Amino acid sequence: MRSVCAPAPQLAGLEPYDPKYLPADAFLSANENPHDVDKDVRHEIMREVKRVNLNRYPDPLANDLRDMIAEANGLDRDQVLVGNGGDELLFDLALAWGGPGRTFLNMPPTFSVYEANARLTNTTVANVPRTADFRIDEEAVLARAAEGGIDYLIVTSPNNPTGELAGEEFICKLLDATDALVMVDEAYFEFSRLTMRPYLAQHKNLVILRTFSKAFSLAGVRMGYILGDAEVVREFVKVRQPYSVDAVSQAVARVVYANRAKFEPGIRAIIDERARVIDGLKRIPGVKPYPSDANYVLFRMENAGQIWEMLYGRGVLVRDFSRAPYLENCLRASIGSAEENDAFLRALRDAVMGKCDL
Ligand code: PMP
Repeated sequence: MRSVCAPAPQLAGLEPYDPKYLPADAFLSANENPHDVDKDVRHEIMREVKRVNLNRYPDPLANDLRDMIAEANGLDRDQVLVGNGGDELLFDLALAWGGPGRTFLNMPPTFSVYEANARLTNTTVANVPRTADFRIDEEAVLARAAEGGIDYLIVTSPNNPTGELAGEEFICKLLDATDALVMVDEAYFEFSRLTMRPYLAQHKNLVILRTFSKAFSLAGVRMGYILGDAEVVREFVKVRQPYSVDAVSQAVARVVYANRAKFEPGIRAIIDERARVIDGLKRIPGVKPYPSDANYVLFRMENAGQIWEMLYGRGVLVRDFSRAPYLENCLRASIGSAEENDAFLRALRDAVMGKCDL
């Protein structure tokens, strides 16, 4: 067999993204919604999907869905763009604002996909690490932005995997300090209820990322969107895959978006459970949970890698960050149903109290 020539050099040293999904009784590793879409909405979805012409290409820009999102946000159609999950739009950002000779300002620890996208597109990464308690080092970021030479930044609010919000005042200062494109990643904003959307009218360099994967229980469908200035959105349109959002996903998302009020009680329940889980974690000796405005909680403890194994042995899958840069001895648990959260807290308590063998 003939050998194959080397791939593009920027791939050297990159690890393929691996979310480390494993079968488990309590699946608390991916920040999904523990509740699937309810029966009535599912019925409506089925009706809508039945009407889709599978032999035809979809509307490339999903204009019906775009119009719904635009109207709900007091924007025009051309200020909205949907993507194949928020992930696609993050990649589009790196394609459109990154590239050789260009620089992305990153604030680790944060969502690892940002840095991977920058490397894939030969974009230089300027890291301004967070403080020891995972707050953005605001002064350092503002100073670096004011220096110039930054092409885009991503402010994650709430941040994944650490959970805290970025300050509104800080983001405003940042938008004034730089002409770089500032993406505020609001993938979890439904759990914090805080958004930068009111600032879109004043700041051309602000773009907001949202997703249907979390609050709206559609991680399996792949649907995300951005809100921004029409000229900025147009640049994203230039680099996106024309048919990345298929007709079935468009149909599902339209129904879910039209019914979004029905997801409110579920979101409320997750917010309430979050407080209960954080409180439960605080009561376990040696466990330090970090504050969270999202649907997950990061916590730090001795021997976190071993504790992860013990939890998994009890059927509870959480996300292991214990060897990740800046996150030594940290684990992240998504907020699940009350039963899943109880199973998690019980298993963790037992692991710490030595009632659980490896
Ligand atoms: N941004 C952040 C901070 C995330 O955590 C995620 C999902 N893990 C995304 C964006 C992308 O979500 P999706 O592709 O499911 O829309």
